[in-house]
Amino acid sequence: MNRTANRSSGRPPAFSYREVRKGFLRRRPVGSALQCDEVALERLAERFGTPLYVYSASTIRERMASFDHAFRKVPHTVCYSVKANSSLGVLRLLAGIGCGFDVVSGGELERVLRVDRRASKKVVFSGVGKTAQEMLAALETGVMLFNVESEAELWRLAECAARTREKARIALRVNPDVPANTHPYISTGLQQHKFGIPIGKARKLYAQASGTKYLRIAGVSVHIGSQITDVQPFALAMERVAELVRVLQGDGHRIEYVDAGGGLGIDYQDASPAGFAEQAAEYAAALLRPLRGLKVHLLLEPGRSIVGPAGVLLTRVLYRKTNGPKQFLVVDAAMNDLLRPSLYDAYHEIIPAYLDVNSARHETVDVVGPICESGDFFARGRELPVVNEDDLLAILDTGAYGMALASNYNTRRRPAEVLVDGKSVKLIRRRETMDDLLRPETQLR
Ligand SMILES: *Cc1c(COP(=O)(O)O)cnc(C)c1O
Repeated sequence: MNRTANRSSGRPPAFSYREVRKGFLRRRPVGSALQCDEVALERLAERFGTPLYVYSASTIRERMASFDHAFRKVPHTVCYSVKANSSLGVLRLLAGIGCGFDVVSGGELERVLRVDRRASKKVVFSGVGKTAQEMLAALETGVMLFNVESEAELWRLAECAARTREKARIALRVNPDVPANTHPYISTGLQQHKFGIPIGKARKLYAQASGTKYLRIAGVSVHIGSQITDVQPFALAMERVAELVRVLQGDGHRIEYVDAGGGLGIDYQDASPAGFAEQAAEYAAALLRPLRGLKVHLLLEPGRSIVGPAGVLLTRVLYRKTNGPKQFLVVDAAMNDLLRPSLYDAYHEIIPAYLDVNSARHETVDVVGPICESGDFFARGRELPVVNEDDLLAILDTGAYGMALASNYNTRRRPAEVLVDGKSVKLIRRRETMDDLLRPETQLR
Protein backbone atom coordinates (compact mmCIF):
# COMPACT_ATOMS: atom_id res chain seq x y z
CA MET A 1 0.00 0.00 0.00
CA ASN A 2 1.34 3.44 -0.80
CA ARG A 3 2.02 6.03 1.88
CA THR A 4 -0.85 8.27 0.88
CA ALA A 5 -3.42 5.54 1.27
CA ASN A 6 -1.78 4.64 4.55
CA ARG A 7 -2.10 8.15 5.70
CA SER A 8 -5.69 8.58 4.67
CA SER A 9 -6.79 5.47 6.49
CA GLY A 10 -4.55 5.79 9.53
CA ARG A 11 -4.89 9.46 10.14
CA PRO A 12 -7.41 10.44 12.78
CA PRO A 13 -9.75 13.43 12.81
CA ALA A 14 -7.72 16.61 12.33
CA PHE A 15 -6.55 16.13 8.76
CA SER A 16 -8.27 13.33 6.90
CA TYR A 17 -9.79 12.60 3.52
CA ARG A 18 -13.52 12.66 3.00
CA GLU A 19 -15.17 10.95 0.07
CA VAL A 20 -16.52 13.24 -2.62
CA ARG A 21 -19.60 11.90 -4.43
CA LYS A 22 -21.31 13.04 -7.61
CA GLY A 23 -24.25 12.15 -9.81
CA PHE A 24 -27.82 11.03 -9.08
CA LEU A 25 -28.38 11.07 -5.30
CA ARG A 26 -24.59 11.55 -4.95
CA ARG A 27 -24.16 7.82 -5.44
CA ARG A 28 -20.93 7.86 -7.41
CA PRO A 29 -17.68 8.36 -5.47
CA VAL A 30 -15.34 10.41 -7.63
CA GLY A 31 -12.51 11.10 -5.26
CA SER A 32 -11.60 12.25 -1.81
CA ALA A 33 -10.84 15.70 -0.45
CA LEU A 34 -8.53 16.50 2.43
CA GLN A 35 -10.23 18.24 5.33
CA CYS A 36 -9.19 20.01 8.50
CA ASP A 37 -11.89 19.10 11.01
CA GLU A 38 -15.12 19.86 9.06
CA VAL A 39 -13.56 22.16 6.49
CA ALA A 40 -12.19 21.21 3.05
CA LEU A 41 -8.65 22.51 2.63
CA GLU A 42 -9.31 23.40 -1.03
CA ARG A 43 -12.03 25.83 0.16
CA LEU A 44 -9.55 27.51 2.51
CA ALA A 45 -6.94 27.81 -0.24
CA GLU A 46 -9.51 29.39 -2.56
CA ARG A 47 -10.66 31.81 0.11
CA PHE A 48 -7.34 32.87 1.62
CA GLY A 49 -4.82 32.07 -1.13
CA THR A 50 -1.62 30.06 -0.90
CA PRO A 51 0.82 29.44 0.66
CA LEU A 52 -1.38 29.11 3.73
CA TYR A 53 -0.83 27.68 7.20
CA VAL A 54 -3.88 25.88 8.60
CA TYR A 55 -4.07 24.79 12.24
CA SER A 56 -6.58 22.50 13.94
CA ALA A 57 -7.73 23.92 17.27
CA SER A 58 -9.18 20.57 18.35
CA THR A 59 -5.84 18.84 17.79
CA ILE A 60 -3.98 21.45 19.83
CA ARG A 61 -6.50 21.12 22.66
CA GLU A 62 -6.46 17.31 22.55
CA ARG A 63 -2.69 17.07 22.56
CA MET A 64 -2.42 19.54 25.42
CA ALA A 65 -5.02 17.55 27.36
CA SER A 66 -3.15 14.26 26.73
CA PHE A 67 0.10 15.84 27.82
CA ASP A 68 -1.43 17.33 30.96
CA HIS A 69 -3.20 14.06 31.77
CA ALA A 70 0.10 12.15 31.66
CA PHE A 71 1.35 14.19 34.62
CA ARG A 72 -1.90 14.18 36.61
CA LYS A 73 -0.36 12.39 39.58
CA VAL A 74 2.10 15.16 40.43
CA PRO A 75 1.75 18.91 40.97
CA HIS A 76 2.75 20.44 37.66
CA THR A 77 2.29 23.36 35.26
CA VAL A 78 2.56 22.99 31.51
CA CYS A 79 4.32 26.05 30.11
CA TYR A 80 3.89 25.86 26.33
CA SER A 81 7.10 26.85 24.55
CA VAL A 82 6.10 29.96 22.63
CA LYS A 83 8.89 29.75 20.06
CA ALA A 84 7.39 26.65 18.41
CA ASN A 85 4.39 28.63 17.19
CA SER A 86 3.98 32.14 18.54
CA SER A 87 0.86 33.24 16.65
CA LEU A 88 -1.45 35.18 18.94
CA GLY A 89 -4.38 33.01 17.84
CA VAL A 90 -2.58 29.87 19.03
CA LEU A 91 -1.42 31.53 22.26
CA ARG A 92 -4.96 32.74 22.98
CA LEU A 93 -6.32 29.23 22.49
CA LEU A 94 -3.73 27.85 24.93
CA ALA A 95 -4.19 30.64 27.48
CA GLY A 96 -7.92 29.90 27.35
CA ILE A 97 -7.35 26.36 28.56
CA GLY A 98 -5.18 27.52 31.44
CA CYS A 99 -1.76 26.90 29.93
CA GLY A 100 1.42 28.59 31.17
CA PHE A 101 4.16 29.75 28.81
CA ASP A 102 7.90 29.37 28.30
CA VAL A 103 9.39 32.43 26.59
CA VAL A 104 12.91 33.01 25.31
CA SER A 105 12.79 36.72 24.52
CA GLY A 106 11.18 39.97 25.54
CA GLY A 107 9.22 39.79 22.31
CA GLU A 108 7.69 36.44 23.22
CA LEU A 109 6.85 37.77 26.68
CA GLU A 110 5.09 40.71 25.04
CA ARG A 111 3.04 38.32 22.88
CA VAL A 112 1.90 36.38 25.94
CA LEU A 113 0.95 39.57 27.78
CA ARG A 114 -1.03 40.85 24.77
CA VAL A 115 -3.05 37.64 24.89
CA ASP A 116 -3.55 37.65 28.66
CA ARG A 117 -2.12 40.23 31.07
CA ARG A 118 -2.47 37.85 34.00
CA ALA A 119 -0.58 35.04 32.27
CA SER A 120 2.76 36.41 33.54
CA LYS A 121 2.23 34.48 36.78
CA LYS A 122 2.65 31.31 34.72
CA VAL A 123 5.57 32.47 32.56
CA VAL A 124 9.03 30.92 32.65
CA PHE A 125 11.74 33.07 31.08
CA SER A 126 14.49 30.98 29.43
CA GLY A 127 17.29 31.86 27.03
CA VAL A 128 21.06 32.11 26.97
CA GLY A 129 21.32 35.82 26.18
CA LYS A 130 18.67 37.82 28.03
CA THR A 131 19.36 41.56 27.88
CA ALA A 132 18.98 43.87 30.88
CA GLN A 133 16.02 45.46 29.15
CA GLU A 134 14.29 42.08 28.77
CA MET A 135 15.00 41.22 32.41
CA LEU A 136 13.53 44.51 33.60
CA ALA A 137 10.37 43.95 31.58
CA ALA A 138 10.00 40.43 32.99
CA LEU A 139 10.59 41.64 36.57
CA GLU A 140 8.03 44.38 36.21
CA THR A 141 5.37 42.01 34.95
CA GLY A 142 6.27 39.46 37.65
CA VAL A 143 7.13 36.24 35.83
CA MET A 144 7.05 32.97 37.76
CA LEU A 145 10.65 31.94 37.13
CA PHE A 146 13.89 33.02 35.44
CA ASN A 147 15.96 30.15 34.06
CA VAL A 148 19.50 31.50 34.40
CA GLU A 149 22.12 30.12 32.05
CA SER A 150 25.45 31.57 33.25
CA GLU A 151 27.14 33.19 36.22
CA ALA A 152 27.43 36.48 34.35
CA GLU A 153 23.70 36.43 33.64
CA LEU A 154 22.98 35.73 37.31
CA TRP A 155 24.76 38.92 38.42
CA ARG A 156 23.13 40.95 35.66
CA LEU A 157 19.74 39.72 36.85
CA ALA A 158 20.63 40.56 40.47
CA GLU A 159 21.43 44.16 39.38
CA CYS A 160 18.17 44.46 37.45
CA ALA A 161 16.16 43.04 40.35
CA ALA A 162 17.79 45.46 42.77
CA ARG A 163 16.93 48.32 40.45
CA THR A 164 13.24 47.38 40.30
CA ARG A 165 13.19 46.23 43.97
CA GLU A 166 11.41 43.10 42.74
CA LYS A 167 12.75 39.75 43.89
CA ALA A 168 13.69 37.51 40.97
CA ARG A 169 12.72 33.88 41.44
CA ILE A 170 15.48 31.87 39.83
CA ALA A 171 16.38 28.40 38.66
CA LEU A 172 19.77 27.63 37.23
CA ARG A 173 19.49 25.85 33.94
CA VAL A 174 22.00 23.10 34.34
CA ASN A 175 23.75 21.35 31.50
CA PRO A 176 23.61 17.64 32.40
CA ASP A 177 26.08 16.52 29.69
CA VAL A 178 23.60 14.05 28.22
CA PRO A 179 23.57 13.24 24.47
CA ALA A 180 20.11 13.56 22.97
CA ASN A 181 20.37 11.74 19.63
CA THR A 182 18.71 14.45 17.55
CA HIS A 183 19.86 16.88 14.86
CA PRO A 184 23.10 18.58 16.08
CA TYR A 185 21.55 22.07 15.67
CA ILE A 186 18.78 21.28 18.18
CA SER A 187 20.76 19.21 20.67
CA THR A 188 21.52 21.37 23.71
CA GLY A 189 22.48 19.17 26.65
CA LEU A 190 26.17 18.46 26.02
CA GLN A 191 29.04 20.32 27.62
CA GLN A 192 30.17 21.56 24.18
CA HIS A 193 26.86 23.43 23.72
CA LYS A 194 26.35 27.05 24.71
CA PHE A 195 23.41 26.20 26.98
CA GLY A 196 23.18 26.01 30.75
CA ILE A 197 25.64 25.81 33.59
CA PRO A 198 27.78 22.66 33.87
CA ILE A 199 25.95 20.59 36.45
CA GLY A 200 29.12 20.18 38.51
CA LYS A 201 29.42 23.96 38.93
CA ALA A 202 25.83 24.57 39.95
CA ARG A 203 26.12 23.91 43.69
CA LYS A 204 28.68 26.67 44.21
CA LEU A 205 26.65 29.15 42.18
CA TYR A 206 23.47 28.38 44.13
CA ALA A 207 25.43 29.10 47.31
CA GLN A 208 26.58 32.45 45.94
CA ALA A 209 23.10 33.35 44.70
CA SER A 210 21.49 32.56 48.04
CA GLY A 211 23.33 35.41 49.70
CA THR A 212 21.97 37.96 47.22
CA LYS A 213 19.14 40.15 48.43
CA TYR A 214 17.04 40.39 45.29
CA LEU A 215 17.49 36.81 44.09
CA ARG A 216 15.32 34.04 45.42
CA ILE A 217 16.34 30.50 44.69
CA ALA A 218 13.27 28.65 43.53
CA GLY A 219 14.24 25.71 41.36
CA VAL A 220 16.46 23.72 39.04
CA SER A 221 15.94 23.63 35.31
CA VAL A 222 17.12 21.51 32.39
CA HIS A 223 16.41 21.29 28.65
CA ILE A 224 18.47 18.87 26.57
CA GLY A 225 17.22 19.59 23.06
CA SER A 226 14.35 19.22 20.65
CA GLN A 227 12.80 16.46 18.50
CA ILE A 228 13.93 13.75 20.91
CA THR A 229 11.87 10.61 20.30
CA ASP A 230 13.64 8.23 22.70
CA VAL A 231 12.70 8.96 26.34
CA GLN A 232 15.94 7.53 27.75
CA PRO A 233 17.94 10.79 27.52
CA PHE A 234 15.14 12.60 29.40
CA ALA A 235 15.32 10.01 32.19
CA LEU A 236 19.10 10.29 32.40
CA ALA A 237 19.00 14.10 32.56
CA MET A 238 16.30 13.96 35.23
CA GLU A 239 18.35 11.52 37.33
CA ARG A 240 21.20 14.01 37.37
CA VAL A 241 18.83 16.87 38.20
CA ALA A 242 17.20 14.89 41.03
CA GLU A 243 20.62 14.18 42.49
CA LEU A 244 21.42 17.90 42.41
CA VAL A 245 18.08 18.79 44.00
CA ARG A 246 18.87 16.48 46.94
CA VAL A 247 22.29 18.07 47.37
CA LEU A 248 20.82 21.57 47.24
CA GLN A 249 18.09 20.72 49.71
CA GLY A 250 20.79 19.30 51.96
CA ASP A 251 22.55 22.66 51.69
CA GLY A 252 19.39 24.31 52.98
CA HIS A 253 18.03 25.75 49.71
CA ARG A 254 14.31 25.70 49.11
CA ILE A 255 13.82 23.97 45.74
CA GLU A 256 10.20 24.51 44.88
CA TYR A 257 10.33 23.82 41.12
CA VAL A 258 11.96 21.33 38.82
CA ASP A 259 11.68 22.54 35.24
CA ALA A 260 12.10 19.57 32.88
CA GLY A 261 12.18 21.70 29.69
CA GLY A 262 10.64 20.54 26.43
CA GLY A 263 11.94 18.51 23.54
CA LEU A 264 9.56 15.57 23.16
CA GLY A 265 9.70 14.63 19.48
CA ILE A 266 6.99 13.74 16.98
CA ASP A 267 6.98 11.13 14.23
CA TYR A 268 7.32 13.09 11.00
CA GLN A 269 7.48 9.89 8.93
CA ASP A 270 4.06 8.71 9.99
CA ALA A 271 2.40 10.93 12.53
CA SER A 272 -0.40 9.17 14.36
CA PRO A 273 -1.91 11.65 16.78
CA ALA A 274 -3.97 8.76 18.18
CA GLY A 275 -0.81 7.42 19.77
CA PHE A 276 0.09 10.63 21.54
CA ALA A 277 -1.54 9.73 24.86
CA GLU A 278 0.69 6.66 25.13
CA GLN A 279 3.76 8.59 24.06
CA ALA A 280 3.08 11.29 26.66
CA ALA A 281 2.55 8.62 29.34
CA GLU A 282 5.89 7.02 28.49
CA TYR A 283 7.58 10.41 28.62
CA ALA A 284 5.95 11.21 31.97
CA ALA A 285 7.07 7.87 33.42
CA ALA A 286 10.66 8.56 32.33
CA LEU A 287 10.65 11.99 33.99
CA LEU A 288 8.77 11.04 37.13
CA ARG A 289 10.69 7.95 38.16
CA PRO A 290 13.87 9.84 39.12
CA LEU A 291 11.84 12.55 40.87
CA ARG A 292 10.03 10.13 43.17
CA GLY A 293 10.16 11.26 46.79
CA LEU A 294 11.09 14.85 45.96
CA LYS A 295 8.46 17.37 46.98
CA VAL A 296 8.64 19.68 43.99
CA HIS A 297 6.28 21.34 41.53
CA LEU A 298 7.14 20.10 38.04
CA LEU A 299 7.30 22.54 35.14
CA LEU A 300 7.08 21.26 31.56
CA GLU A 301 7.85 23.20 28.40
CA PRO A 302 6.53 21.27 25.40
CA GLY A 303 6.34 23.06 22.07
CA ARG A 304 6.60 20.83 19.02
CA SER A 305 4.70 17.89 20.52
CA ILE A 306 1.65 20.10 21.12
CA VAL A 307 1.41 22.09 17.89
CA GLY A 308 3.54 20.22 15.31
CA PRO A 309 0.95 17.71 14.04
CA ALA A 310 -1.82 20.32 14.38
CA GLY A 311 -0.68 22.32 11.34
CA VAL A 312 -0.30 21.95 7.58
CA LEU A 313 1.16 24.27 4.98
CA LEU A 314 -0.97 24.44 1.84
CA THR A 315 0.80 25.17 -1.42
CA ARG A 316 -0.17 25.08 -5.08
CA VAL A 317 1.78 23.47 -7.90
CA LEU A 318 2.95 26.28 -10.19
CA TYR A 319 4.83 24.21 -12.75
CA ARG A 320 5.74 20.68 -13.64
CA LYS A 321 9.27 20.61 -14.95
CA THR A 322 11.66 17.96 -16.24
CA ASN A 323 15.45 18.36 -16.15
CA GLY A 324 17.06 15.29 -17.70
CA PRO A 325 16.00 12.34 -15.59
CA LYS A 326 14.53 14.50 -12.83
CA GLN A 327 10.93 15.52 -12.42
CA PHE A 328 10.23 18.66 -10.42
CA LEU A 329 7.10 20.14 -8.95
CA VAL A 330 7.68 23.88 -8.52
CA VAL A 331 5.26 25.02 -5.84
CA ASP A 332 4.29 28.48 -4.59
CA ALA A 333 5.66 27.98 -1.06
CA ALA A 334 9.36 28.24 -0.42
CA MET A 335 12.06 27.91 2.22
CA ASN A 336 11.16 31.36 3.54
CA ASP A 337 7.71 29.96 4.47
CA LEU A 338 8.95 26.62 5.86
CA LEU A 339 12.66 26.40 6.60
CA ARG A 340 12.91 23.00 8.27
CA PRO A 341 13.75 20.91 5.18
CA SER A 342 16.48 23.37 4.15
CA LEU A 343 17.86 23.98 7.65
CA TYR A 344 17.72 20.49 9.18
CA ASP A 345 17.18 18.34 6.09
CA ALA A 346 13.89 17.59 7.85
CA TYR A 347 11.32 15.21 6.41
CA HIS A 348 7.72 16.36 6.00
CA GLU A 349 5.06 14.18 4.48
CA ILE A 350 3.38 15.80 1.45
CA ILE A 351 -0.05 14.74 0.24
CA PRO A 352 -2.45 16.07 -2.41
CA ALA A 353 -5.54 17.91 -1.17
CA TYR A 354 -7.62 15.92 -3.67
CA LEU A 355 -7.31 12.33 -4.77
CA ASP A 356 -9.23 11.16 -7.84
CA VAL A 357 -10.60 7.60 -7.59
CA ASN A 358 -9.43 6.89 -11.12
CA SER A 359 -5.80 7.96 -10.77
CA ALA A 360 -3.66 5.53 -8.86
CA ARG A 361 -0.52 6.61 -10.73
CA HIS A 362 2.56 7.63 -8.75
CA GLU A 363 5.82 9.28 -9.78
CA THR A 364 9.10 10.24 -8.14
CA VAL A 365 9.56 14.00 -7.83
CA ASP A 366 11.45 16.79 -6.15
CA VAL A 367 9.09 19.32 -4.60
CA VAL A 368 10.82 22.70 -4.75
CA GLY A 369 10.04 26.37 -4.17
CA PRO A 370 10.71 29.43 -6.33
CA ILE A 371 13.67 30.78 -4.31
CA CYS A 372 17.06 31.15 -5.98
CA GLU A 373 18.87 28.47 -3.95
CA SER A 374 19.19 24.73 -4.51
CA GLY A 375 18.50 24.37 -0.78
CA ASP A 376 14.96 25.55 -1.44
CA PHE A 377 13.17 22.19 -1.41
CA PHE A 378 10.46 20.41 0.56
CA ALA A 379 11.12 16.87 -0.66
CA ARG A 380 13.66 15.17 -2.88
CA GLY A 381 13.21 11.91 -4.75
CA ARG A 382 9.76 11.52 -3.18
CA GLU A 383 7.10 9.17 -4.51
CA LEU A 384 3.83 11.06 -4.80
CA PRO A 385 0.52 10.57 -6.59
CA VAL A 386 0.71 12.34 -9.95
CA VAL A 387 -0.56 15.89 -9.63
CA ASN A 388 -1.07 18.65 -12.18
CA GLU A 389 -0.26 22.31 -12.34
CA ASP A 390 -2.66 24.28 -10.10
CA ASP A 391 -3.30 21.29 -7.84
CA LEU A 392 -3.11 21.82 -4.10
CA LEU A 393 -0.62 20.02 -1.84
CA ALA A 394 -0.54 19.83 1.94
CA ILE A 395 2.83 19.71 3.70
CA LEU A 396 2.06 17.92 6.94
CA ASP A 397 3.17 18.39 10.54
CA THR A 398 4.19 21.99 10.04
CA GLY A 399 2.44 23.52 13.06
CA ALA A 400 5.74 23.85 14.96
CA TYR A 401 8.80 25.78 13.75
CA GLY A 402 7.00 26.55 10.49
CA MET A 403 5.57 30.06 10.55
CA ALA A 404 7.77 30.80 13.58
CA LEU A 405 10.86 30.45 11.38
CA ALA A 406 9.40 32.16 8.30
CA SER A 407 11.21 35.13 6.76
CA ASN A 408 10.86 37.62 3.94
CA TYR A 409 13.82 36.24 1.95
CA ASN A 410 13.52 37.06 -1.76
CA THR A 411 11.06 39.81 -0.72
CA ARG A 412 8.34 37.24 -0.29
CA ARG A 413 5.36 38.08 1.85
CA ARG A 414 4.87 35.66 4.72
CA PRO A 415 1.83 33.35 4.51
CA ALA A 416 -1.54 33.88 6.14
CA GLU A 417 -2.60 31.62 9.03
CA VAL A 418 -6.01 30.09 9.64
CA LEU A 419 -7.29 28.39 12.78
CA VAL A 420 -10.03 25.82 12.19
CA ASP A 421 -12.25 24.61 15.00
CA GLY A 422 -14.90 22.13 13.88
CA LYS A 423 -16.85 24.10 11.27
CA SER A 424 -15.50 27.46 12.35
CA VAL A 425 -12.72 29.17 10.38
CA LYS A 426 -10.74 32.06 11.79
CA LEU A 427 -8.09 34.02 9.91
CA ILE A 428 -5.60 34.60 12.74
CA ARG A 429 -3.03 36.35 10.57
CA ARG A 430 -3.66 37.89 7.16
CA ARG A 431 -1.15 37.56 4.37
CA GLU A 432 1.48 40.31 4.48
CA THR A 433 1.28 43.11 1.96
CA MET A 434 4.19 44.76 0.19
CA ASP A 435 3.53 47.83 2.35
CA ASP A 436 3.93 45.72 5.51
CA LEU A 437 7.33 44.61 4.23
CA LEU A 438 8.63 47.98 3.16
CA ARG A 439 7.36 50.09 6.08
CA PRO A 440 10.57 50.00 8.19
CA GLU A 441 12.75 51.07 5.27
CA THR A 442 13.80 54.73 5.13
CA GLN A 443 14.44 55.00 1.41
CA LEU A 444 10.85 54.82 0.21
CA ARG A 445 9.82 57.71 -1.96
C1 LIG B 1 12.85 25.23 22.36
C2 LIG B 1 12.67 25.04 23.81
C3 LIG B 1 11.59 24.31 24.30
C4 LIG B 1 10.59 23.60 23.41
O1 LIG B 1 11.15 22.55 22.71
P1 LIG B 1 10.20 21.57 21.85
O2 LIG B 1 11.17 20.65 21.22
O3 LIG B 1 9.48 22.41 20.86
O4 LIG B 1 9.30 20.89 22.80
C5 LIG B 1 11.42 24.24 25.67
N1 LIG B 1 12.28 24.85 26.52
C6 LIG B 1 13.34 25.56 26.08
C7 LIG B 1 14.24 26.21 27.06
C8 LIG B 1 13.57 25.68 24.72
O5 LIG B 1 14.63 26.37 24.28
